[in-house]
This record gives sequence, C-alpha cells and structure tokens, in this order.
Amino acid sequence: MKRYSPLLFGFALILSACATVPQAETSGLTFVHLNDTYRVGAVEDGNAGGFSRVMTLVRELQGEGRDVRILHGGDFLYPSLESQLWDGLQMVDAFNFMDAVAPMYVVSGNHEFDRRGPDQLIAAVRASQFDWLGDNYTFKTGEADVDNALKSAFAFAAGDKTIGVFSLTLHGEDGGNSRSYIEIDGDYQAIAERAIESLEERGVDLIIGITHLHMWQDIALAQLKVTHPAVAFIVGGHEHEPQYQAATDASAVVMKGASNARVIWQIDVDFDDSGDYAVREKRIKLDESVPLDPEYEVLAGKWNGHLLEVFPFLTARVGTAALAMDVREEMVRSRENSWGNFIADQMRRAFGDPPAELAFINSGTLRIDDFIEDDILFEDIGRTFGFSSYLRHTTLTGEEFRRVMEAGFRGGPESQGYFPQVSGFRVCVDRSRNEFDRIVSLQVPTDDGWQEIENGKEYTVVVPDYLYRGGDGYEIPKDRLVSRPGSELKYLVLDAILAAQARGEKVGQPVDPDNPRIQQLLEGKQRCFR
Ligand SMILES: [Zn+2]
Repeated sequence: MKRYSPLLFGFALILSACATVPQAETSGLTFVHLNDTYRVGAVEDGNAGGFSRVMTLVRELQGEGRDVRILHGGDFLYPSLESQLWDGLQMVDAFNFMDAVAPMYVVSGNHEFDRRGPDQLIAAVRASQFDWLGDNYTFKTGEADVDNALKSAFAFAAGDKTIGVFSLTLHGEDGGNSRSYIEIDGDYQAIAERAIESLEERGVDLIIGITHLHMWQDIALAQLKVTHPAVAFIVGGHEHEPQYQAATDASAVVMKGASNARVIWQIDVDFDDSGDYAVREKRIKLDESVPLDPEYEVLAGKWNGHLLEVFPFLTARVGTAALAMDVREEMVRSRENSWGNFIADQMRRAFGDPPAELAFINSGTLRIDDFIEDDILFEDIGRTFGFSSYLRHTTLTGEEFRRVMEAGFRGGPESQGYFPQVSGFRVCVDRSRNEFDRIVSLQVPTDDGWQEIENGKEYTVVVPDYLYRGGDGYEIPKDRLVSRPGSELKYLVLDAILAAQARGEKVGQPVDPDNPRIQQLLEGKQRCFR
C-alpha cells in the first residue's frame, strides 16, 4: 500500500537507536522536511518534486491521524525567474497555503538575503503566516514588527508534549550573505547549546534543529545529543542533494532533502508512556507516482498565469536542442554538462573578437534544475538564469589560473554549486589527492594539439562578476587590468541560440567521453586524456 517511493539508492526505513516504535494506531507527531525550493510548481514538466505533492503526503498523514508539521531548511525567496518579478512573495503565498494545512517552521537560508537592501525581506516577512526561526541571527531591518517576527528558542505544543526548536543559518564567512539588515553569529555550536539549554529549562519534551549550514557542521551539532538526549534530529538545507547521517549513541540523525522537493523526509516521532521517544525517518522521492493536490494546483495555476501575463513570450520557442540536456542540479553540479559547455563557450565571446582564451562558470549559477530538450523555450533561458549574471574580462598567468581552478574541485565528489563548467581548456583532476592539489593536468589547445598550460604566460579569461569578487571560494587576482561588469550572460546565451536558429542549426553537443573537458579520476588509477 506504499504509494510513495521511500526506497532509493539503498536507503530504507531506519529506526533510530533510541527506542522501539510503538505499533499502536498512532496519533503521534510527524515532521515533513524540505529545503532549497525555488518553484511554486513542480519540475520536469510537472512530473517531479513540488509543493503540490508535499501537500498530498501531508494530507494523507493527517488522514492517518498524525499531527503533521512542515519544516523548511531555507533558501526559497531567491533565486528564480519568478523572484525577479515578485521578490519571493510567490513562495510566501505557497508557504502560507501549506502552513494553513499543517503548521510550517522555516529557517532563513543565505538566499533569503540576496537583496542588498531590507525592503524585500520586510515585505516577505510581513506577508508570512508561517514562523520564521533563527537563533544565531537577527533581523535589523529597522521595522520593529519584522525584526520581532523572527523567533528564537522556539517551542510549540503537540498534544500533551512540547517540542523545542533551535535554528541556525550560515555566517558570511561560511558562504552566507553579509548584509546591513541582518546580524549573523558564526559560533554555531555554542549558540545551539545555549538555545537547547534554554529549551530544557522550559521543560520541553523533545528538541529538534532546523539549519541552513554545511553538512559537516550539522554532523558536529548532532553530537550535542550526547549531553542533551532530548535532541532528536537535525534537518537542514544548502546542499541540493539528499544528505543523511544515521543516529548513533553519540549522534542525532541528520537529514537534508533534494532541491525543489524532489526528495523530502518524513520523520515520525512517537512517545511511549514513560516519555521516551522514538524517531523513524523515511526518505521520500516525490515523483509522478505521487498525485498532485487539486487545491494547491489552483494556487500554482494562479502564479503561472501571472507569469504568463508578464512574459507572454515565455513559452515561445527560441531554438532547438540537438540532444536532451540533463541540467538537473545533481548532474550539472558534479560533472561536465552539455548545457554548461554551451554557456561557457558563449562567455568567451562576450567581449568581442578575438574571443577570450579561457572561461568558466560556477554551476550554481545555472538554476533550471530540469531537462532541456526538443524545443528550447524562452522559459528555459529564464529559468537557467535565476538572477542577472554580468561577466568580467581579465588576464591570469597559467600558474594563477591553475591555482584558481583548484577551488572548483575541492570537497566533493557530491554535487556542489561551485563545481565549474569550462571552455577553452581541459582539466584532469584526481579526487583522491589533497584539496587544492587535485589538478593533475590543465591543458589548452595549441597549433601542436593540447599542451599543458604555460605557467608564465598570460591568458585572457572571462568569469562571472560573482566569481571575480571571490564568490564560491574562487580567489582571482585583482592587481591587473579588468573590464567592468558587462554583458549579461542570459542575453548572450539567448543571442547565441537565436543566431543558431537563424542558421538552421541545433544547440548543444553531447559530452564526449573520449575528449572530455573535465576528467575526474577514480583514485588515480586512470591516466589523464587517453
Ligand atoms: Zn544555501
């Protein structure tokens, strides 16, 4: 009778080490956790993820008598095509809908603070009916109602139990946003512990964490369970692929879902008569087997209608794809990608002839999280670039360029927004080597074929302004001539597609396994560029 697909890549129903689960007709508490959502509707032509399917799951759990609460691990106001028009108010509307069905608790991610000034956040918080939570940050918008709306050491009642929540977001030095209208404290461990202690003093029965941090930071926080056994689980965001660390005697369970609610978590918490609790987590893939919620679909349809009113040309065909390009985030953020190659190729031409020799972009700039195939619609361009991306032209020596590129292959191998899509060179990395020493070979085309980049030679380079300014961990030398930020990437790409269409050509080439731009060695056992 399982209507969902909880089994994926070997994850199964997992019992926490804490206690056995009562098998009674339960009326216990169930959390549904999602994170990093940018669409009011579903993805993949409506066939994957989306809040509508979340609502179907929530209502079914409620039908079973569960007390359902929705948790969100942050990143939702930005970036997206819609947010360029409505600054996330479309997401607030969707969250309010869900909150009316099951109370929703939300931590801010870094993208909630994408705007330089406070006005858009003020509007979003004022429109929100769900709870904004934060223990390591405060709003300093100057509007008292908004600043006071953020709740710390939050607790809520569920039946005769009280549940406490601590919540943390990324500090600017860890990849968060630094803005004048927020103040973020990066001492996550100490602040979590303080919040937990204050919740314990108030006699809560259970404590959970909602975070927008890196996975390794969540794993460290989960060890607070040793000294604070009421800490049941931590759910988070920021990574866009599912993350999981099982509970042990020394750690609470940690979970994150996939972006756009492709994968979410159902977490059942049941108390026995002595007050002990059991946590039972289930990873749920929301695919076409999960029906849409008719009531939510009205809301989704409303926003889609607004979008088409503003951009009636959104469904217009601007070109033709030569192949089905899989630009889902799990693909584009971990390996060479056809759409990424096409975009990086256009970057080199952004500043006229001759084209720059080298270009790269962080795949986190490419937000579509979907397939591009057959007709390329204007919508595909609009959704690829969820924010404006202006380019810079500069020069780097071969030695500097190699050092810059090392940042793109740190961490991993799971998908990361800083993973590069490249043009004008090919790179071979060995992920078994130490970070910042993983590039085995970085080659450029010459009259004599591919040759190793020359350490002392100057090369012309095009990068997004975001990376030039040090975004995503790329450190680009700034002590030389550089263009001002120019050439909006979205229109550069659109222009190239229109030009191809005018020539009767299709767009995109398959990634060539025999001639890769990015080769990632498995434990150094292969040779580069054979
Ligand atoms: Zn984030």
